[in-house]
Amino acid sequence: MEIACLDLEGVLIPEIWIEFAAKTGIEALKATTRDISDYDELMTMRLSELDKAGLGLNEIQEVIATLSPLDGAADFLNWLRDRFQVVILSDTFYEFAGPLMKQLGCPTLLCHKLTVDDTGKVVDYNLRQVNPKRQAIAAFKTLYYRTIAAGDSYNDTTMLTEADAGILFNAPQNVIEEFPQFPAVHSYDDLRQAFLDASNRKLSL
Ligand SMILES: [Mg+2]
Repeated sequence: MEIACLDLEGVLIPEIWIEFAAKTGIEALKATTRDISDYDELMTMRLSELDKAGLGLNEIQEVIATLSPLDGAADFLNWLRDRFQVVILSDTFYEFAGPLMKQLGCPTLLCHKLTVDDTGKVVDYNLRQVNPKRQAIAAFKTLYYRTIAAGDSYNDTTMLTEADAGILFNAPQNVIEEFPQFPAVHSYDDLRQAFLDASNRKLSL
């Protein structure tokens, strides 16, 4: 049996924090791990900015519901789900991804969780586990699943390495050059073909 594991942001949906910052006009929320490398510091800043702007979970979800999956993402995902069991492995939070996952037919998603108080204020965040993408692949392997994984960024490379087959999708050039062992594709058509090539079953487009 084979499982297809997909990163979410940059593969099926846009980067949520960046889009959210653009929609709300909150400059500070444009910061990513490239600007603030300490993730705890970054998330603490984000939660404080949300609080300052008076954005509780309801308001946040209303904004996120106005975002859309990437062009062609829903068709690609439906195609993939016809041929593979699909699990999305992401470093986002259920509460943020929710409105976009609905637009994608709610595929299985393993990611992190926020803590929200009675008033809707986001008070904390909870990481699912350390190195969650790689650990999920390692766990599927203990169930004797063959794994094919695709992602777009550095935080996917441990997952791609652990998987039986890894694929880079729309990755920046420096990641492609640093990880030449993975096929690198830039369109959903080529990603479909890369999954077919990586499968040990005789599947077709
Ligand atoms: Mg990504």
